[in-house]
Amino acid sequence: MSAPRELVPLAAPVVDTHCHLDIAFGEEHVVAPVAQALADARAVGVTKIIQVGCDVASSEWAAKTAAEFPDVWATVALHPNAAAHDPNLEASLARIAQLAELPQVRGIGETGLDYYRTEEALATAQHTSFRAHIDIARANNKPVIIHDRDAHEDVIKTLLEHGAPDKVVFHCFSGDAEMAKICAENGWFMSFSGVVTFKNAENLRAALRVAPDELILTETDSPFLTPAPMRGNPNSSVNLIHTVRAISQVRDAPEEEICNLLYANAARVFGPF
Ligand SMILES: [Zn+2]
Ligand SMILES: [Zn+2]
Repeated sequence: MSAPRELVPLAAPVVDTHCHLDIAFGEEHVVAPVAQALADARAVGVTKIIQVGCDVASSEWAAKTAAEFPDVWATVALHPNAAAHDPNLEASLARIAQLAELPQVRGIGETGLDYYRTEEALATAQHTSFRAHIDIARANNKPVIIHDRDAHEDVIKTLLEHGAPDKVVFHCFSGDAEMAKICAENGWFMSFSGVVTFKNAENLRAALRVAPDELILTETDSPFLTPAPMRGNPNSSVNLIHTVRAISQVRDAPEEEICNLLYANAARVFGPF
């Protein structure tokens, strides 16, 4: 159980820029009903949530949920691992392009490249899908939300060669200080997750130290990536407080200043709220 002091609300409101309210974390951890999850998050200062789509069904759900709840915004996409195994990739991309036009859909993602879970033979479909999502983002003047797992070089190369949209977010940024500099040079946002609280994440904290103020975001990626000291439990937007406090420590900046910065950056990417 968490000690009560861990639930002290943040000094100012922040946005959870990446979560999956629709994904349950094991059978006994069924996701809280949306209204309850939002109320719990709001009680600790997480006042807005970006619900991220991973396939056609979850993208439709994200769009529907964002239409229903004023504090939820949606993004829509085929996750690179979903794209790799989609027998109807073209039709799915066409549906994502339709959903992308909705006003409550504020970004295109998560898309990108995942070389960790995908065999080489399926990588072609990921590349096709990634480029198509970049096109959809540009056509709608919306940010692209990137899932980059063990694929830094190819993700950067694709963005530069294919032509990145105005706003690019590396969700769950996993690069080092060197990559943070490349992102900074290109004006790409880096979203830091609970991983910044992990003992072995020194390279990531080094990246967090050099990332420019105006390009940092935060997220839970819940129900995944639960931050310390809550590891072992399913993640939720409530736990963003631990990640934000870690960010404030690593950057040696007051909590309130970090919250205001994170909120303003999130509003620039996904807003107006
Ligand atoms: Zn991801
Ligand atoms: Zn995700």
